[in-house]
Amino acid sequence: MDNVKILDKEFSIYLTEEQILKEVKRVATEINKDYKDENPIFMGILNGSFMFASDLYKDITLDSQITFLKLASYEGTSTTGKIKRLIGINEDIKDKTVIIIEDIVDTGNTLDSIIKQLRGYEPKEIKLVTLLYKPEAYTKDFTIDYKCFDIPNDFIVGYGLDYDGYGRNLRHIYKIIE
Ligand code: 5GP
Ligand code: MG
Repeated sequence: MDNVKILDKEFSIYLTEEQILKEVKRVATEINKDYKDENPIFMGILNGSFMFASDLYKDITLDSQITFLKLASYEGTSTTGKIKRLIGINEDIKDKTVIIIEDIVDTGNTLDSIIKQLRGYEPKEIKLVTLLYKPEAYTKDFTIDYKCFDIPNDFIVGYGLDYDGYGRNLRHIYKIIE
């Protein structure tokens, strides 16, 4: 498959749409099995997870809801660094099982911030499903419950993930050529 150029950078194919959808189906099947007696609420984190959330949710057969959240730009600072505020929670998630849908977990800082804020709404439990996970970069200890792919520390784009806002429309996932 051809390389793609986005802005000033060149990328080569890393995971094809076919490979992606196969893993998405595998993970959805696991979730369907694990929550067969429950009605979890899925929460996609925008923007990056929109394509993954869409494909994953088509394979979910549970009686369930999906909603989308966004991390708003910096809302002041704390001693531990910048905190992004999680916006868009309109549902009552108290005592419900929440399944976060992420595109990629890198250092885990974003996930950490999302989980800390969601805990304030007192859900029964918070689980995570991520398309991509970079084990070498991860610094947190929250369990990655479901993941499609472990990937090395390379910058990737496509299938919802961007480079400077571009490349989200690519149906395959591409890796930067250094
Ligand atoms: P973390 O907070 O776990 O370090 O990073 C998570 C966020 O960084 C992701 O939600 C994503 O926006 C961005 N990110 C991390 N690695 C990559 C990557 O390889 N490609 C793209 N496009 N975004 C990434
Ligand atoms: Mg993200």
